[in-house]
Amino acid sequence: MPNHPVPSRRLFLAAAGLTAAGARAADPPLAPPDRQPPDLVLPEVPHRQARWAVVGLGKLALEEILPAFARGRLSRPTALVSGHPDKARRVAAAYGIDPRHLYSYDTYDRLREDVEVDVVYVVLPNSMHAEYTVRALRAGKHVLCEKPMATTAAECRDMIGAARDTGRELMVAYRLRYEPFNQAVIRMCREKAVGGLRTFSASNCQVTPAPNIRLSRALGGGPVQDVGIYCINAARYVTGEEPTEVTAMEHRPRDVPRFREVPASVTFQLRFPSGVLAHCECGFDAAESRRFRVTGTDGFIDLDPAFSYRGLRLTVGRPSGREQVQLAEVNHFAAEMDHLSDCVLNGKHPRTPGAEGLADVRVIAAVEAAARTGRSVPLPPADPA
Ligand code: NAD
Repeated sequence: MPNHPVPSRRLFLAAAGLTAAGARAADPPLAPPDRQPPDLVLPEVPHRQARWAVVGLGKLALEEILPAFARGRLSRPTALVSGHPDKARRVAAAYGIDPRHLYSYDTYDRLREDVEVDVVYVVLPNSMHAEYTVRALRAGKHVLCEKPMATTAAECRDMIGAARDTGRELMVAYRLRYEPFNQAVIRMCREKAVGGLRTFSASNCQVTPAPNIRLSRALGGGPVQDVGIYCINAARYVTGEEPTEVTAMEHRPRDVPRFREVPASVTFQLRFPSGVLAHCECGFDAAESRRFRVTGTDGFIDLDPAFSYRGLRLTVGRPSGREQVQLAEVNHFAAEMDHLSDCVLNGKHPRTPGAEGLADVRVIAAVEAAARTGRSVPLPPADPA
C-alpha cells in the first residue's frame, strides 16, 4: 500500500477539466437542465371562452358537436339539455360538465339563471328549432340553431324578431360557410376564376332507414329540409344571388312505408337574376352523393364531396386540363362554434345570421309548392324580416 493519498477519479477528471462522462466543463449539458426540454412550446391559453349549452343529445350532438369542442379555441361546453337524464349524466361525466348544469325540456327556461352559459346550441328535430331558439333568446342567451332554421318562414321571422328584441346573436349552423373548401369556391366565383357563371348542379343523397326524425313530417323531416338545403344554400353562396323562380318534381313510392309522410327523392331547379340556372337533386333512397359543380364560360369547379364533414375535394377544370386544389381541412363544427363565440366575446355579428336561414326556408317552401302543383313558383324578393 503506498502511503501517499491516491487522487480520486473525480478529482482527477476535475483537474483535467473533464466531467465523469468525459465532457469539458464548457460543453453544453446533455440532460435537460430544468428537467424539461428548454425549447418546449406551451399551448396558447385563450383569455376567454364562450360557455355553451348543447340542447338535444342525438347523433349529431354526440358524434360531432361535443367532440369538436376539443378542436376549437374559443368554445367550451358547460351545460346540457336532454329528455333522458341517465344519458345526460353520462355525457356530462365524459366532458367534465358539472351535473348541476343539466336540464330537461321542462326545466329549460332555468337557463336564464345559469351564469355559466352564454350560448345555446339547438340540435333538436327541425320542428322544435323555433320554440327552443326563441326560449333561449328570451332567457338572455345567444343561439346557434341547426339547419334548417325552422319549418316555415313565419317561424324564422319570429326567431329573428326575438333576437332583435333581446339584443342577442342568432346564427344558423351552416358549417360549410366556415370551412376552407367551400370558402375557396366562393372566392373563385367572385373572382371569375372560370369566367361568368352559367349553371350550378348539386346532388345530396343518402339512404335513410326508419326510424329517423328525417322521415317524420310532424318533426319537420323531408329530403329537401334535411339534405336538399345544402344544395339551395350552396347555389345561393356560389352565385351570391337570390333565386327568383323555382320548379320541382318529387317521387313518393306508395309501396314503401317509410315514405308515407315525406318524398323519397326531389329534383328542383332555381333561376337566378344573372341568368344562372341551378339544378339540384336530393333524396333518402339513393346511394350517398354529396357534390356540386359550378360551370362558367371558361371552365368548371367541382367540389366532390362538397357537403360531407371531412375529405372535401376541389377540382378546377379548364380546356387546358384539370387541377386539384389542395387545402388544409378544419373541423367544421369547431370552426362554426368558434365563429359564434368570437362574435359573442367581441361584439361582432355572425356570417350566417337568421336572415340566411330564412332565405333557404323560403326556397324550401317554394320547392314543395312547385312539386305539389307541378307549376313554376315565383320567388319575390324577401321582405325585411
Ligand atoms: P337525432 O334524431 O339523432 O337527435 C335528435 C335529438 O332530439 C335526440 O337527442 C332526441 O332525443 C331529441 N328529441 C327531443 N324531442 C324529440 C322528439 N319529440 N322526437 C325526436 N327526438 C327528440 O337527430 P340528429 O341527426 O342529431 O339531428 C338533429 C338536428 O341536427 C336536425 O335539425 C338536423 O337537421 C341537424 N343536423 C345537422 C347536421 C349538419 O351537418 N349541420 C348534420 C346532422 C343533423
